[in-house]
Amino acid sequence: MPRATEQLRDERFARLVSEAAACHRCSMMCDRRPVLSEKNGPTNARILFIGEAPGRHGADQTRVPFSGDQSGRNFARLLASTGLERDRIFITNAVLCNPRKPSGANRRPTAREIANCSDFLRRQIETIDPTIVVTLGRVALAALGRIEYHRFSLREHVGRICHWNGRLLVPLYHPSPQVLISHRTEREQMRDYRAIGRALRSCGEDR
Ligand code: SF4
Repeated sequence: MPRATEQLRDERFARLVSEAAACHRCSMMCDRRPVLSEKNGPTNARILFIGEAPGRHGADQTRVPFSGDQSGRNFARLLASTGLERDRIFITNAVLCNPRKPSGANRRPTAREIANCSDFLRRQIETIDPTIVVTLGRVALAALGRIEYHRFSLREHVGRICHWNGRLLVPLYHPSPQVLISHRTEREQMRDYRAIGRALRSCGEDR
């Protein structure tokens, strides 16, 4: 299917941004601002990354996914190891708003919040229309399953090139400090990230 024209894509994206800005579907995030704007990346990106949720010291402040906190710094190093420039990728999250505990600390988004935001995720994927989708962590991989069912798991498919919904899918671990310390070291994650280069080459998008 031919990609939407640039103008149509930008119009669709602008609509998404304004709908998200007016969204109050999640009762515990009504006072948050969704992280979705041109700062997420170019709308003609061929590769789209999905994380879990904006962090309170990161994207919730900077309005740029994976920036301003330790997860963002870890992600920047891992991305640099692939040779991919950040301005060539689009980055979003399974939920667009920052989920917090009453104490103010970050928390995992609930299943309900992920379901509430899945239509925004589906529409971002349809609008950007990337060749390759990269999920960062278990929550992002599961969120894709709400859009089009899959049986991929992080444990079995990390760093592998999978086929999902007419696109290539590369499941990777989340770059949070906790994951790097207790689940997947930076060296292991750098090895996983090489799958992105293989996926780009396999569809001729590495130029
Ligand atoms: S997380 Fe998504 S669905 Fe929930 S309030 Fe924010 S934009 Fe709306």
